[in-house]
Amino acid sequence: ITPPRAPAPPPPPRRGTAVAAAAAGTWAVLTARFAYERIKPGPKTPGEAATMLVTSAAIPPAAVLHRVRGLAVHRRARSWGGPRAVLFDRDDTLIRDVPYNGDPERVEPVPGARRALDRLRDHGVRIGVVSNQSGVAKGLIGAGDVRRVNARVEELLGRIDVWEFCPHDDGDGCKCRKPEPGMIERAAERLGMLPSDCAVIGDVGGDVEAAAAAGARGILVPTRRTRPAEIARAPETAPTLAAAVELVLGGRRRR
Ligand SMILES: [Mg+2]
Ligand SMILES: [Zn+2]
Repeated sequence: ITPPRAPAPPPPPRRGTAVAAAAAGTWAVLTARFAYERIKPGPKTPGEAATMLVTSAAIPPAAVLHRVRGLAVHRRARSWGGPRAVLFDRDDTLIRDVPYNGDPERVEPVPGARRALDRLRDHGVRIGVVSNQSGVAKGLIGAGDVRRVNARVEELLGRIDVWEFCPHDDGDGCKCRKPEPGMIERAAERLGMLPSDCAVIGDVGGDVEAAAAAGARGILVPTRRTRPAEIARAPETAPTLAAAVELVLGGRRRR
């Protein structure tokens, strides 16, 4: 018994040549049309027409090369409409408010603060703090005290990319004390962003008003001391710091 003969091998494919010819034809037609559209407005001199013909052949591959290079350079970037930075109020948002505190030993994070900030860090979102410290203007604490307290905050909560604090008081007419937008604008600038790239999270109306004035997204996390009218006026609220951060991340994938 002889086994059935294997079927004859198929003829060598010739389709590749045909596809290449079709592609070349399409390229020629599109290039001619592109050149025609560019020559049409004039001036219709031979030199101009020659230049248009040559550059019409050169522009599409150059544009494709440019695009491919851009995609390669930014291949790790994600398209994401959400905030690239979150600027937090300090007192009663990240740490318990101890009025006019200049003592690093009295710094106590609010529950979940470290985890909330780490969530943002995991997603490549930059972190800043924008804090009114009128105790400086009142002479109750010095700028050095503020910086020592801030350093303690970083020990407990991890690295903060940018700190801004306003040492002024009501009536000083400064542009930084919240609800003025100055600290948010400055923090965004130091991060190389626009305020519209930032969300601001705070516990009082002045925090979210400053955000609105700067063109940033404002999220209020009320405490027992937050007035009902401030809550009613807030553009967005969240029950906890963690919830506010999830609102910011809203479905964003881990980096
Ligand atoms: Mg506060
Ligand atoms: Zn100020």
